[in-house]
Amino acid sequence: MSNGLVTAAYIVAAILFILSLAGLSKQETARKGNKFGIFGMAIALIVTILSVNVQSIVFILVAMLIGGLIGVRLALKVEMTEMPELVASLHSFVGLAALLVGYNSFIKIFTNVHSQVSSTLLNIELIEIFLGVFIGAITFTGSVVAYGKLHGIIKSKALSLPHKHKLNAFALIAAIVLMFLFVNAGGSMIYLAIMTVIALLFGWHLVASIGGADMPVVISMLNSYSGWAAAAAGFMLSNDLLIVTGALVGSSGAILSYIMCKAMNRSFISVIAGGFGNDGASAGDSEEMGEYREMSPEEVAQLLKQSNSVIITPGYGMAVAQAQYPVAEITNKLRDKGIKVRFAIHPVAGRLPGHMNVLLAEAKVPYDIVLEMDEINEDFPETDTVLVIGANDTVNPSAQDNPTSPIAGMPVLEVWKAQNVVVFKRSMRTGYAGVQNPLFFKDNTYMCFGDAKTTVQSILKSI
Ligand code: NDP
Repeated sequence: MSNGLVTAAYIVAAILFILSLAGLSKQETARKGNKFGIFGMAIALIVTILSVNVQSIVFILVAMLIGGLIGVRLALKVEMTEMPELVASLHSFVGLAALLVGYNSFIKIFTNVHSQVSSTLLNIELIEIFLGVFIGAITFTGSVVAYGKLHGIIKSKALSLPHKHKLNAFALIAAIVLMFLFVNAGGSMIYLAIMTVIALLFGWHLVASIGGADMPVVISMLNSYSGWAAAAAGFMLSNDLLIVTGALVGSSGAILSYIMCKAMNRSFISVIAGGFGNDGASAGDSEEMGEYREMSPEEVAQLLKQSNSVIITPGYGMAVAQAQYPVAEITNKLRDKGIKVRFAIHPVAGRLPGHMNVLLAEAKVPYDIVLEMDEINEDFPETDTVLVIGANDTVNPSAQDNPTSPIAGMPVLEVWKAQNVVVFKRSMRTGYAGVQNPLFFKDNTYMCFGDAKTTVQSILKSI
């Protein structure tokens, strides 16, 4: 296929990727957005394989077949609750790919074209390689740690090494100095290798130092890094589409990080440099907080029938229990009785941006009753009953009342302002941030213990 045709097809694929992102920004159009993305990626792959620069197509096809089979198997097997881990592991592959492309390009320069390019062009190529390997290495180990934390293999608590800020600053300064030495030497494997080791450790430390409730920022940050790593690989391979796609992922990930930081009331720089979350602040103990009261599913059903307005705030526990289907059924039953039912979605509820919206859409809950935190937070005082289904950190009043809490300052759903609050969970254990929740001990709060799906099904029967 001629270069002109390849370029034209790349432009079509890039437009499809932009349409895909636009589609994914709303639930109603998300499916269409996914289709644009699949179509764009199919064009990109076919055209790249058929382009004149590609040799040994058989090897590529075999690699694609093996990768494709693994991908399909994983996608079919993965539970919705394991999606964040899957995303983190995919980010690690992008980082590793950028790192390997960097080394490959470096070796290629020195075996093929070293003598043919001007020194300015060589310097530009060397900087591209250095940056590509640097970003790739950070993305790789950072994503591996994020995977470990989300999967529970690595403790979610923030790692707090002595002089951690100085260590980060040292890694950055060392990388800059090494880049100058690398370019000055006209390329040197030693400098590249030293920087790679530093970047791998830096990525590991950066994510390990961020704990508890600040993980959403890490995930979106790694999403952005993986985009920049892909863009860097695009520069090294002189592939325009990879540059455009990488830039799209990098910038949309950066916007998502900004939204996540806003949702958590944190500054992006302080999260990545400071590593909030479990930073040694007091977590509180359930015994210090006093007594809690229990309510049976039958009593909850009674309470719901007497209410005029109900707000449901779902969290990670609803995803684990797969309780969204009976929750949707309860919603329909209550609405049929003329009771006003709405959902309040915290931006970091669950373990993935938009996690709750996806679950509720899956269970066919109408979009117009699913409201964002800012849209509904003022309505809690006029609400009769709030059902907190498997949420914990996102409804924790200590974010507002306790300045020493690891989640202090994070905006939360003010559920305690309603007449009655019923919390569905299995025990008095803490949520992801490891902080005890004073909500459970308030006078208007009742605990309904058990697996969320079983409990909601019992309520459904009683209604
Ligand atoms: P939390 O993680 O704070 O709490 C979930 C609660 O669900 C737990 O207290 C648990 O209590 C309960 N639970 C677990 N399984 C079940 C079950 N089968 N049935 C009933 N209850 C169950 O959830 P939130 O959604 O409120 O908060 C999300 C947290 O995750 C925040 O700290 C956020 O920062 C963090 N996070 C979010 C990400 C994102 O992008 N959204 C990414 C990474 C982290 P018990 O064990 O007693 O049942």
